[in-house]
Amino acid sequence: MPQPDPYRGRFAPSPTGPLHRGSLLAALGSWLMARRAGGEWLVRIEDLDPPREIPGAAAHQLETLHAFGLVPDGEVIYQSTRDTAYQQALDRLLASGDAFHCHCSRTDLASVGGIHRRCVAASPRPDPAVRLRVPDNTLIRFHDAVRGPVEQRVDTEVGDFVLRRADGLWAYQLAVVVDDAHQGVTGVVRGADLLESTARQIFLQQRLGLPTPNYAHLPLIVDGQGAKLSKSCAALPVDAANPLPALRAAWATLGQDPAALEGLSSPQAALASALCAFDPQRLAAAHNTQVIDHA
Ligand code: GLU
Repeated sequence: MPQPDPYRGRFAPSPTGPLHRGSLLAALGSWLMARRAGGEWLVRIEDLDPPREIPGAAAHQLETLHAFGLVPDGEVIYQSTRDTAYQQALDRLLASGDAFHCHCSRTDLASVGGIHRRCVAASPRPDPAVRLRVPDNTLIRFHDAVRGPVEQRVDTEVGDFVLRRADGLWAYQLAVVVDDAHQGVTGVVRGADLLESTARQIFLQQRLGLPTPNYAHLPLIVDGQGAKLSKSCAALPVDAANPLPALRAAWATLGQDPAALEGLSSPQAALASALCAFDPQRLAAAHNTQVIDHA
């Protein structure tokens, strides 16, 4: 009988600053899911957008992960080295007619609600963007391990989306799909902010004939009273010199039993205990409690 693919998870930070509470949550959640399945955990640096990047941030993020005991398997991949793979995927989509050059500016699209369904450019641009055509009635459904069934009408809610920007930079959606497939990722575990990108990524995987991984979008970071924290709080850097408080906070956000991380003095010991106690069912429960409390 064929064996199922071994689980392979990943954490994919953008090097736009120090590792923060939101990214630690994604790192810990993805690490726990991978290790619990006896699988691998990879790290990919998503350095696609030089204007938003901070020099030295990637190295700093990797050092911080190590300080937390979160050590990737295998080599870390940098998206800045992956131009050829993205270009090949784009060329295939252009050749099949799924992708097209687009001269529309943000201002042009504002007049049609910001959603691209057909070109409305007032004038041609020297460097057009490339978009993926999303046919009418494109409904993508998937099962999220935390949120349950999710669906999105990609044509009306998103529209034809950008694969290569007018400034020549690769769009996150293209790079993430190409790289998840290249790295053989079977499980994507990440922050809730990326839930609404997932249908686009699945649609793109289908267009490129790539497999769709399983998805889990983690509960939101809440404060001690259970109130949702603002995006800026999730963006607070974590302290590599004192990892245990941040690890415990991330563990609590994942809805796990706080007792499992009490009385431990090193992040390695905390992670070992966390792995034994980790219960993925509690992720969904943590998310549902947040929805009921704060809807
Ligand atoms: N690079 C993205 C971020 O830092 C995460 C991408 C992903 O996990 O798919 O928000």
